[in-house]
Amino acid sequence: MQIAIRMTNRNHNTFVHLLGALEAQGFDIDEILITKKLEDIIRAKPKAVLYSFMTQEVWKVEEEVKLLREKINALFIAGGYHATAMPKHTLRTFDIAVIGEGEETLFYLLNALKSRKFKITKELLDIKGLAFYLNGQFAFTGFAKVEDFARFPPYAETSKLIAPIEISRGCPFACRYCQTPYMKGFLMRHRPIDQIVKYSKRMKDMRYITPNAFAYGSPGGTLKIRKLEALLKALQPLRKEGRRLYYGTFPSEVRPEFVKPETLELLIKYADNRRLAIGAQSGDDEMLRFMHRGHSITHIMEAVEYMIEYGIEPVVDFIVGLPNEDEEKQRKSIELMKWIMRKGGKVRAHYFMPLPGTPFARCKPSSLSKEMSKFLGDMAREGKIEGSWGEQIRLSKKLQKLIEEFYEEPMSYVGKIREVC
Ligand code: SF4
Repeated sequence: MQIAIRMTNRNHNTFVHLLGALEAQGFDIDEILITKKLEDIIRAKPKAVLYSFMTQEVWKVEEEVKLLREKINALFIAGGYHATAMPKHTLRTFDIAVIGEGEETLFYLLNALKSRKFKITKELLDIKGLAFYLNGQFAFTGFAKVEDFARFPPYAETSKLIAPIEISRGCPFACRYCQTPYMKGFLMRHRPIDQIVKYSKRMKDMRYITPNAFAYGSPGGTLKIRKLEALLKALQPLRKEGRRLYYGTFPSEVRPEFVKPETLELLIKYADNRRLAIGAQSGDDEMLRFMHRGHSITHIMEAVEYMIEYGIEPVVDFIVGLPNEDEEKQRKSIELMKWIMRKGGKVRAHYFMPLPGTPFARCKPSSLSKEMSKFLGDMAREGKIEGSWGEQIRLSKKLQKLIEEFYEEPMSYVGKIREVC
């Protein structure tokens, strides 16, 4: 096979969807080797190997590509958040970076490479969404946008591979630490209900990908309860056939201000999960404003109260070590975490990681106060808080060093990103 996909647990959903998009445009996906094993790639000796990864995985990916280059003579093509935010850094390891939403770009790229014996030629300049070196010169062909991502099915018809369906794309909230709006745009777009129902039939547990599950049908910032209900209602015949519907929980979540009696009533009536994941991120209003979260502590507390009232377990995410987060701000987060746990909710703690392509890319994480370190350690030992902040502290330092050393202005869906540090 001439083309191979290096599949991992992390990029599984991305490639499952891309295979659907390639097939829908007429590409024969039987021509592609899809594998999680490097040995398979070495044995197949493909002419092109496709990767998709995040900045957090860069070091492992670099090692892998180095190893593969010793064994096979192929073009290495990278897509995903890192390739988009740091294309020049990506091209230190890869031959081609896909910039932006890749459904169409990948289709045109693979066809062009096939007809040009897998060589980088000037014809690639006509394909939007690519960065590469041509005769030693850096070439960037523009950010690839896919306004109507529902033109492409979530899975390939001829493949057994499935994944949670991406039902909505884009987010207007522009939280300063998050890559989603800068990669997918500020406007939330949605897959139509009939398409969601059609492809949900292939799932046993129906799960979905969206930045905010309760914002289905809306441009993102407001609740469109009728549209949300129409979607959940349309999935009921599939539930009756024995499938379970998980909505607003892994792998998606909901924003706190969308958790209201009316949304919880829909959840109770139409879904099977009795837990909801919400992002709180901080227990300090000033910090929430600085992060551009667009909600307050009151929204978080109300959401938790409502969930408890309706018998839904709150699973609440926090980020600790945020830029400018002093001891007092960390104390407020501790207080809110304690309050949530007293109420019967679960807390998940993450350490702040600067990500390229976000306004916080060059912000320094704050050290954890003694009180916060002790609190998280004690709670983790008692099994009350989940999260791998210890490991993330190390990763955060590596990310900071990488962004500083190889800084480049990121490509973005929304134009120039206003960095705040
Ligand atoms: S963290 Fe969530 S709400 Fe904020 S910008 Fe990212 S996807 Fe949107």
